[in-house]
Amino acid sequence: MRVFRDYESEVRGYIRSFPTIFKRAKGSLLYDEQDKEYIDFFAGAGTLNYGHNNDIINNALVDYIKSDGIAHGLDLATTAKKEFILKFVDTILAPRNMDYKIQFTGPTGTNAVETALKIARMVKRRSNIVAFTNGFHGLTMGSLAVTGNAFYRDEAYISRCNVSFMPYDKYFGENINTIDYFRKFLKDPSSGLDLPAAVIVETVQAEGGVNVASFEWLKELEDLCHEFDILLIVDDIQVGNGRTGKFFSFEDAKIYPDIITVSKAIGCGLPLAFVLLRPELDQWKPGEHTGTFRGNNLAFVASTKALDCYWTTEDLTLAIDNRSKILHERLVKIVEKYPQIELAARGRGMIYGLECKDKNFASMVSKKAFEKGLIIELAGPNDEVLKFLPPLVIDNDLLMRGLDIIDESINEILDEREKKINEGQNDS
Ligand code: PLP
Repeated sequence: MRVFRDYESEVRGYIRSFPTIFKRAKGSLLYDEQDKEYIDFFAGAGTLNYGHNNDIINNALVDYIKSDGIAHGLDLATTAKKEFILKFVDTILAPRNMDYKIQFTGPTGTNAVETALKIARMVKRRSNIVAFTNGFHGLTMGSLAVTGNAFYRDEAYISRCNVSFMPYDKYFGENINTIDYFRKFLKDPSSGLDLPAAVIVETVQAEGGVNVASFEWLKELEDLCHEFDILLIVDDIQVGNGRTGKFFSFEDAKIYPDIITVSKAIGCGLPLAFVLLRPELDQWKPGEHTGTFRGNNLAFVASTKALDCYWTTEDLTLAIDNRSKILHERLVKIVEKYPQIELAARGRGMIYGLECKDKNFASMVSKKAFEKGLIIELAGPNDEVLKFLPPLVIDNDLLMRGLDIIDESINEILDEREKKINEGQNDS
């Protein structure tokens, strides 16, 4: 690990949570240089929905490279891009009666968010944007301005202007409707809230602690946006691409956002991002919003294959529903098994959070699980939530083995704690 310590910036993060050198990976398993095996409940922060080195996707990529397919093409027309667009329209948009233009942006999620905010402001000729408590939208300046987490924001460099935060669903508990609260601000000309161009929302706040908005809340938010002529941006970067079962995370809520940001798993592990715009919002002048890496042709090839393989039938959605039940049932059992540490489980599809009230407990579990061969990350404002985010295609046996490791880790930490307390009592 010395090479990273000596030469890589202090900013490195995940390497500290999972301190080993990973060498290869297949499906839902990673292997380090000592050939130790790790079950992946992290999936590249929701990027590897179809697993590592998926054979079907890899073979398509190898064939494309061997045929001297275009690797880089700015926003030129390429065969790979044409095939991707046609597949995306035929497989995803058309069957859902979704009429959207596709704007390819720079390749990371935050590029898509910046683009969404910019077009909303441009079209509405208003600068304010409403974001939600605990939202996470990326770390470039515009995206950071709509991201809540104080760890990433510093008074010295954050631009706070033109973003207002409103409480997310259940922010004040189950019984307070935060849409009513938001409506009151919009209605009151003296509330201090400038009419926003757009509202940006995640249907499940992944980084924010796996906070799940109810379908009713999302529908009320859409109605509110219509009532006040505000654009609705759904940031589907982490929980889209099938994470909650359907391809888009908002489908079950039956809402139709004006703008949708798509990234992470759409490129199957290769960088790719875009926004979907209602056609009337596509008011750019040619070349007005550019970037060298818009549309990654290798990612187009990978994605076209994945869409063809996983999204032309209902099979994946049914498998996700089934694995979601396994996750849910097992986490509920774990919550019941350890009442002394007041755990709480929540989630949708194949994103689940296990909140640990006990400070630092989640981090101890993640550390112990890593020693036992499981990779699981933390979320929430104080890293108090274990975030379960396995590849969507994980074998059920492996999913259950990973959950066993979580159970064993909690058990061992509690045993060690009790031992320490007993030793302390014997000493005194
Ligand atoms: N939006 C959401 C909902 C995310 O979860 C993330 C990353 O975790 C981003 C935006 C930013 O994506 P990226 O890290 O690729 O810039």
